[in-house]
Amino acid sequence: MKTAALILAAGRGTRAGGELPKQWQKLMGRQVISYAIEVFKRHPKISHVALVMNADDIVAPLTPDIAPDQIITGGETRQASVLAGLEALKDSADAVLIHDGARPLIAPNVIDRVIDALQTHPGAAPALPVTDALWHGEDGTVAGMQDRAGLFRAQTPQGFHLPEILSAHRANQTDAADDVAVARAAGLDVTIVTGDESNIKITTRDDFARAAKLMDNKMDVRCGNGFDVHRFGPGDHVWLCGVKLPFDHGLQGHSDADVGMHAVTDAIYGALGAGDIGQHFPPSDPQWKGAASHIFLEHAVSLAERSGYRISNVDCTLICEFPKIGPHQDAMKTALAKIMKLDTNRLSVKATTSERLGFTGRGEGIAAMATATLVTA
Ligand code: MG
Repeated sequence: MKTAALILAAGRGTRAGGELPKQWQKLMGRQVISYAIEVFKRHPKISHVALVMNADDIVAPLTPDIAPDQIITGGETRQASVLAGLEALKDSADAVLIHDGARPLIAPNVIDRVIDALQTHPGAAPALPVTDALWHGEDGTVAGMQDRAGLFRAQTPQGFHLPEILSAHRANQTDAADDVAVARAAGLDVTIVTGDESNIKITTRDDFARAAKLMDNKMDVRCGNGFDVHRFGPGDHVWLCGVKLPFDHGLQGHSDADVGMHAVTDAIYGALGAGDIGQHFPPSDPQWKGAASHIFLEHAVSLAERSGYRISNVDCTLICEFPKIGPHQDAMKTALAKIMKLDTNRLSVKATTSERLGFTGRGEGIAAMATATLVTA
């Protein structure tokens, strides 16, 4: 069964305040919407991730930090947006999980439970039983009790066999609260799977703080360092942090001897507890002779991604008497930022001499040290 995710980001979210609709506001430094897109994109049982956006936001334009596979223009109402999404997906999947983009803390195991239930049911949705006592209130006074037996708090993603939910939405005339209501109106069975207390919907300003607190509990921060040295030899240029500098010497090494990029790469491996460049690209292996060092850095970056981390910042110091680094710092930051898919303001390349002391002071070579911070993606 091919399963697509349809993430709704077309709402205006006025109750949360702020200049942008809530799903486009920042939560722990990233757009609210980017979290759900990422979880579904990483999920092995989801083949396609589509995002429904408001036409105004597409024109604005707002761009998700993490690109979905497809962007669909929504309609005037939530139901119209879902229908537009289902029509766009009808030929590319057998089942669809419709998720509210304002639920950034969706866990992969909740997605699993919905998909598993769809093997035997046309519809499945996560929910949690109501455990608090429920009251009727009138003018601030308790006016009666509500039996909570059999009551559930509904969450998303709500999953359905795609042809059935598409016909249900095409036929729907009501202003249904969610897709389960539309499915039930069309006579579809919807089974309840266990939701997750963390899978909250961001509605008000306070919910941002609540979501951040929940994320903080899951946050893992890793720090790694890297150090490297290459010796000067004959040549007419050196590679430093991805930039080719004309110089009256070259740097010797098995690869292109980019000492700065090697230190940065080792810092990332270090944060991951994943060895060093020599382990991943043995100097004894002739295929790495003269290799461009971006290959090593790209490998470390993708290893971080696959391990569930993103690079938060990198700081690299080059230690040499010459060549002069200052005029090339910006180009080096740009080159590293491109490989690491990082904003240049999360990168630092600086240089120091060693006051003519030691091997760098005598101009025998260049040393580099780097620190990398990785955080849970
Ligand atoms: Mg090296």
